[in-house]
Amino acid sequence: MLLVPCPYCGPRPEVEFHCGGEAHIARPADPSALDDAAWAEYLFIRKSPKGVHAERWLHAHGCGRWFNALRNTISDAFIVSYEMGQPRPDLTRQGDK
Ligand SMILES: [Zn+2]
Repeated sequence: MLLVPCPYCGPRPEVEFHCGGEAHIARPADPSALDDAAWAEYLFIRKSPKGVHAERWLHAHGCGRWFNALRNTISDAFIVSYEMGQPRPDLTRQGDK
């Protein structure tokens, strides 16, 4: 069973969570200035990388809170989870003291 690391509750079974898709999608500052193609890209176009991906997760059957996580899409392993509003962790700096 896949365990998802909720930053508030700790590791819990995957069935307690819903994935909310790609994290760190910024809403355009002035949506009315976008043409239809740019607006459609904001709404619908998402990355689907092979490797580390930043995702939003909801602990729906637990604390009920949203958080972000880095997950490796190849191994399905969660690397780190972090609270909403925090920047994406820089994995190249892990191990630095
Ligand atoms: Zn939780």
